[in-house]
Amino acid sequence: MNASTPLFENAQKHLVGGVNSPVRAFKSVGGTPLFVSKAKGAYLYGPDNQRYIDYIGSWGPMILGHANEQVLQAVREAIELGLSYGAPSEKETELAIAVKTLMPSIEKLRLCSSGTEATMSAIRLARGFTGRDVILKFEGCYHGHSDSLLVKAGSGALTLGVPTSPGVPAELAQFTYTLPYNDVAALHQVFSEAGDRIAAVILEPITGNMNMIKPLDGYLEAMRTLCTEHGTLLIYDEVMTGFRVAAGGAQSLQGITPDLTCLGKVIGGGMPVGAFGGRADVMAQLAPEGPVYQAGTLSGNPVAMAAGLETLKGLSAEGFFDKLQNKTDVLTAGLKTAAHEAGVPLCTEMAGGMFGFFFSDAERVTSFEQATACDAPAFNRFFHSMLDQGVYLAPSHYEAGFISAAHTQADLDQTLSAARVAFKAARAG
Ligand SMILES: *Cc1c(COP(=O)(O)O)cnc(C)c1O
Repeated sequence: MNASTPLFENAQKHLVGGVNSPVRAFKSVGGTPLFVSKAKGAYLYGPDNQRYIDYIGSWGPMILGHANEQVLQAVREAIELGLSYGAPSEKETELAIAVKTLMPSIEKLRLCSSGTEATMSAIRLARGFTGRDVILKFEGCYHGHSDSLLVKAGSGALTLGVPTSPGVPAELAQFTYTLPYNDVAALHQVFSEAGDRIAAVILEPITGNMNMIKPLDGYLEAMRTLCTEHGTLLIYDEVMTGFRVAAGGAQSLQGITPDLTCLGKVIGGGMPVGAFGGRADVMAQLAPEGPVYQAGTLSGNPVAMAAGLETLKGLSAEGFFDKLQNKTDVLTAGLKTAAHEAGVPLCTEMAGGMFGFFFSDAERVTSFEQATACDAPAFNRFFHSMLDQGVYLAPSHYEAGFISAAHTQADLDQTLSAARVAFKAARAG
């Protein structure tokens, strides 16, 4: 019994599972989800005002820290000018310019209100542009919850897609092929057999939804080449990695130019914003310039634009990512040391303000299969020990972690001393 328990019990009477997004329910780790009463800087506060060092940052957006004063001030000013117009406003162009400056592969973009909308719309656009139906995705990559993307294939490269969720028609799922991530041979095979039917390849260029996994050397280069050879569009889903692993996203670290990029999370600075954009000739197929329909009542909302703009401005500051990455480095190196001292096998991954850690004796985890083989019960014991000590990690071993500009050395020290206790608890199971 803790202060969140009565709130969760009441929520469950009125909201499905007591939450509005499944992972928040703590099903994977067990126990009662923390109900948040407020957030400031690096901290979340529970219903009893107990403080937690937060490594989720609203699943990525809060890269400047919670309730950042500049962002709040921009939002306050925007609110005074009205909450929504349903008509164009200059702030939308300003955000578009800010995004294009950070991500030069984007020549034109469309703003929407979530990452799910961005990926769903990018897929429709790719199908409309190429006149093809098939899309190719990868095991363990999450692209929001639209029908075509909630699909996982069987083992064979060309087995028909099987829906991951009831409610997704099998007739639709058959157009989604799924391959293992980081398997270049499977990629070559699927393109040689069906390349001229594939409208788009969509992937997380660094994954954050099967814990954090990076592409192996040469993998993305091969993918880019195959897409170009077959007239297939390469879609980078940078909803999580955009403005998070580096100011220019994963694509700026990897030196590969996608045809389209999907954005979300950081671009709204905590408000609901998504975007997709890329090659001008592809984007020109989108309504009102072209025939592919996409729209949104609250798209480009002026208050959300203000939060997004101020957030992008903050993270564009000189040296921002160097400082952030230093903290991530201290954290992941410290976690590794603490784990090894406790005799717990652990490997880590990090870039910019994003990190992952696996309860695995592998040198590196590079596939969904490997991620699935990690010691989930040990993670769960670790998670609860950390939570009891005031450190809030993502409540699933398939999630990445996020650090913000507001985290201090003292926060990291406190986190690592908690981790020394928690790894012992993890092992003791
Ligand atoms: C979060 C996420 C999405 C979905 O974004 P929502 O805003 O939750 O709809 C899509 N793709 C990736 C890579 C994500 O991390």
